[in-house]
Amino acid sequence: MNDGLFDVVVAGGGPVGWACALAAKISLGKRAKVAVVERDPLPVVNADDPISARVYTVASGNLAWIHEHGVKIDEARSAAVTDIQVFGRDGSDSLHVDANDAGLNELARVIEHEALALAIAKRAQQVGVTLIAGECIALHDGDAETGTRTVELADRSLLQARMVLAADGAHSRLREAAAMDVSWHQYPQHGVVANLRCTEPHRGIARQWFLPDGSILALLPLPSVEGTPSVSMVWSAATEHAELLSALPESELLAEINAASAGAVNVHAVISGTRSFPLGLLRLPNPVGQRFLAVGDAAHAMHPLAGQGVNVGLADARCLFDLWQSAPDVHGDPGHALLLSRYRRQRYGPTLAIQLATDGLFRLYNQVDHPFLMAAGDAGMRLFGRLPAFRRTLSSSALQ
Ligand SMILES: Cc1cc2nc3c(=O)[nH]c(=O)nc-3n(C[C@H](O)[C@H](O)[C@H](O)COP(=O)(O)OP(=O)(O)OC[C@H]3O[C@@H](n4cnc5c(N)ncnc54)[C@H](O)[C@@H]3O)c2cc1C
Repeated sequence: MNDGLFDVVVAGGGPVGWACALAAKISLGKRAKVAVVERDPLPVVNADDPISARVYTVASGNLAWIHEHGVKIDEARSAAVTDIQVFGRDGSDSLHVDANDAGLNELARVIEHEALALAIAKRAQQVGVTLIAGECIALHDGDAETGTRTVELADRSLLQARMVLAADGAHSRLREAAAMDVSWHQYPQHGVVANLRCTEPHRGIARQWFLPDGSILALLPLPSVEGTPSVSMVWSAATEHAELLSALPESELLAEINAASAGAVNVHAVISGTRSFPLGLLRLPNPVGQRFLAVGDAAHAMHPLAGQGVNVGLADARCLFDLWQSAPDVHGDPGHALLLSRYRRQRYGPTLAIQLATDGLFRLYNQVDHPFLMAAGDAGMRLFGRLPAFRRTLSSSALQ
């Protein structure tokens, strides 16, 4: 047995796993023993490293929450999003949301995956969360007397905890070990990402195009590189098209991007190499088990078209924080069944709503054989985009 009894063990040190560990340590108090088990070394981010190609638009509500708990995001390596502009397949501006609609200076901030995970990890370790290097491979039944569960690592060491969180990503090994029901739908698309230099300033606008071939191109603000404006590209394209894009010589890739985005920012150089990710929709009818909970992508992976994956995961951590902090009837027990059923009630609706919305939009715009449906989608988006109430709702959901 490794290190005695933990209050909370989190499997997976991605941004969501570290946010949950931070939430646990702060809400359960100084004496609580909290650990994160991560199979890979902590990322290293040096000030002069190029920005990584895997970036997130972190909603301002989530940013405010992590700041409030002492997490420091390097502003020089992140960029503010003040406007969101969506173009239908006819190329017209279908929807425009700006920070003014929400009465704020910025809607979100674009941050690298590595920098976000590292910033939260640093703060969590500062307040006393332990990092255990290892790979979680199994979950053993709880001991009814001590009210615990046991996590087994690849080196056969065992961790006993009153609460175990699976935050080990969409292909979660621990969720599998807990034998949870899972529904998984692989989208016929991959997300191709790259960072690009451009000649036109992005002016803090996150732009997205639903293209006639069913693919979706997003260009997100990045900090300038040596005084040159730059953007992050996420192009969700049919798998074969994605392979083609990833293999194109730089000049041809840039020409494709400029053609698809009508030269909105005029990209002229690739800063990072391209990377490609398979895209899928993962749903769990119930993420709660005995002293066990799946969070983040382990509970709800989704299409990146709304840039909400990591935001929904951070909202899981915030919900746990509130429940752990204000549940006097569970006697400080972080894995109490009452607390977990409250978590399920509170997170079920919002998670389902965002998954239905992203999946519905993907399906509507992927009807390349049904031009009428796609045109109806464009018209609907334009109509809704003119309604101030709709824009307010959208901006507040972007804020999480
Ligand atoms: C192309 C693309 C673009 C995206 N863009 C956005 C965006 O703009 N905004 C947004 O909000 N989301 C976006 N997402 C989604 C986002 O990547 C995920 O939602 C996010 O990474 C989930 O964080 P997580 O911490 O739950 O999981 P992960 O980031 O997957 O972290 C899981 C961690 O667990 C570790 N691990 C795995 N197995 C084990 C094990 N057995 N034992 C120990 N450790 C283990 C891994 O090493 C990893 O560190 C995008 C996704 C893709 C594919």
